[in-house]
Amino acid sequence: RFPQPRARGGRSRLLVLAGPTAVGKGTVAARIREEYPEIHLSVSATTRAPRPGEIDGVHYYFVDDAQFDRMIAGHELLEYAVVHNAYRYGTPRGPVDAALAEGKTVLLEIDLQGARQVRAAEPSATLVFLLPPSWDELVNRLVGRGTEGPEERARRLRTAKAELAAQHEFDHLVVNEDVATAAKEVVDLSAAIAR
Ligand code: 5GP
Repeated sequence: RFPQPRARGGRSRLLVLAGPTAVGKGTVAARIREEYPEIHLSVSATTRAPRPGEIDGVHYYFVDDAQFDRMIAGHELLEYAVVHNAYRYGTPRGPVDAALAEGKTVLLEIDLQGARQVRAAEPSATLVFLLPPSWDELVNRLVGRGTEGPEERARRLRTAKAELAAQHEFDHLVVNEDVATAAKEVVDLSAAIAR
């Protein structure tokens, strides 16, 4: 058997949005959830605790380690990974399959490890990489949100460098200069695929 040519990627309505830490993936995904209800935004399971304002079943399914283990054992996750050396995150397979079967576009906002697993499991998935306007801007955003201390920040910036180096694995690059524009670009990509 010959290896699958890379051109197989980018054909399906299963859309993955990944990108380096602090690039604004979550913000772009939230904008898509609000403005483009026709797109099914996958709700991940995670072992981390909810932040203020986060709703179980909307932003994440908040589960404990035992529940996450059961989801893995039951093959309920399309992909899963430990993110930032801390908590586990995974994509429940059932809702994704159901939405695709209904003809909807499905968007996964996940990390690079997850994106690679989806590519391996579903070679036709469309992988979108969100880029910062510049490296300095990425550093500014990470510092600006003030959610991490200096050590954690330095660690995340090292991860971001490594993640940026993986952009060639993706089918499309979108620069997140402005959230509304980036969200529209992602949605336009999905519309082009659906046609
Ligand atoms: P946060 O804890 O800030 O909501 O998310 C942290 C990171 O986890 C983000 O980079 C996000 O893309 C990633 N993430 C969220 N859900 C999933 C998932 O289901 N699978 C994977 N692999 N990563 C996820």
